Amino acid sequence: MPSITMPSAIDLKKSEFWFIVGSQDLYGDETLKQVARNAEAMSAELAADKQIPGTVKLKPVAKSPQEITRLFENANADPACAGIITWMHTFSPSKMWIGGLGMNRKPILHLHTQFNRDIPWAGIDMDFMNLNQSAHGDREHGYIYARMRLNRKVVAGHWQEAEVRRRIGVWMRAAAARQDGIASPVLRVGDNMREVAVTEGDKVEAQIKFGWQVNTWGIGDLACLYNEVSDAAAEALVKEFPYEWAPELLSPGAKRNAVLEQAKIEIALKQLLTKENAGAFTTTFQDLYGLPQLPGLAPQRLMEQGYGFGGEGDWKQSMLVRTAKVMASGLPGGVSFMEDYTYHFEPGKEAALGAHMLEVCPSIAAAKPRVEVHPLGIGGKADPARLVFDAAPGPAVLATLVDLGNRFRMIINEVETIPIDKAMPKLPVARALWKPKPSLREAAEAWIISGGAHHSVYTTALSSEYFEDWAEMMDIELVHIDQNTDAQKLKNELRWGEAYWGSHGAY
Ligand code: MN
Repeated sequence: MPSITMPSAIDLKKSEFWFIVGSQDLYGDETLKQVARNAEAMSAELAADKQIPGTVKLKPVAKSPQEITRLFENANADPACAGIITWMHTFSPSKMWIGGLGMNRKPILHLHTQFNRDIPWAGIDMDFMNLNQSAHGDREHGYIYARMRLNRKVVAGHWQEAEVRRRIGVWMRAAAARQDGIASPVLRVGDNMREVAVTEGDKVEAQIKFGWQVNTWGIGDLACLYNEVSDAAAEALVKEFPYEWAPELLSPGAKRNAVLEQAKIEIALKQLLTKENAGAFTTTFQDLYGLPQLPGLAPQRLMEQGYGFGGEGDWKQSMLVRTAKVMASGLPGGVSFMEDYTYHFEPGKEAALGAHMLEVCPSIAAAKPRVEVHPLGIGGKADPARLVFDAAPGPAVLATLVDLGNRFRMIINEVETIPIDKAMPKLPVARALWKPKPSLREAAEAWIISGGAHHSVYTTALSSEYFEDWAEMMDIELVHIDQNTDAQKLKNELRWGEAYWGSHGAY
């Protein structure tokens, strides 16, 4: 994987997408000039569309094996190139593409479109037919991907349709997240929680597969930085908090100090993250020596700023939170680290209550979060400050990533988050209540059959399509649990998958 420098601040326009239009020399200069002009018009219009989050870069019309191979060589070498869109304006024989596609390391979107929307009934002649051949040119092009077993997203339809552009935009966001993952290491403060299986995994393979650099820092590194943060800096930070405050925190005392300690942890963590150019981090309550509290409010706020986070050393979910944060950048809705906590099995009202000890991102909140300080019955540290809120109702997606020993598997579940209409005065944490699809019972069975983790990414900003595109470009297995899932059929699909992934993607 190439290494590139990108600040952890998310800017999707920094991701460039090469638009490569295929043709061949057969048609003569005039036709090729028209192909280039049409490609220019398309590229300019796509670049100006708000649904297109990345920067579209038009490349010269690809007409020969040498040109095509050079284009892909250059794309591989260019860290700004996040993905490639191909489209065959005319016929472009696919043996010319074998060299380029064979070496390509960037995600591909095959746009199956044509310049004109309508057939010009009255004027159509053989010149028009020679110029506008994508209906068959793109079939030749599609064949070579299939023949070479190359992953890609195929988007068919007229390029000016909103739905076509929306789907290109989804793919671009996934590709930008892939690119960001290569550039933004995950910083593990301490190891995984002792004895836990699902938060373990092959970090070497994660770097080979995803580009994720997963390395550890001692808690002492963070504690040193924490000790150097001044009271004034902490006070200045909490003054900027756009949250409600529990009244007892407004006057000096132990409880307000707990908030200031979290502010210092936030400042220290951010220094460490900035220094390492990291996009994500983990903590663990079993390794907090030198810190007064479990980081609670601090990771909540850092997630809100776009960082990935995983509790108990869960680096896979931390990077997945970061991935979702990049994909969701600028979209309405939120992204958070999440954990399935407790069920409500009342017939007809079945639901799952999601929360974590403390670390849930306020980007998913229904209303302004409230800063509170309460005891935490785990970890043996001082009472931590946290943001308390209910998640906004609406459609959401849960996604998790597990290591099966020979491959990574992503599991996603579509859910409907519902309002929490009962007070829970003794549970002062951020929480979400959702009804999974197709039902709590079937979704839970399907998730558990698939080996899905108790930790996940929860998002109201992204549909399943984002995760599908990302899994496709990462070449990993995806289990999609939705309205149509049958847990018993899924069991067979997973068994067939063992054969497919055993021969295809095993590490
Ligand atoms: Mn947990």
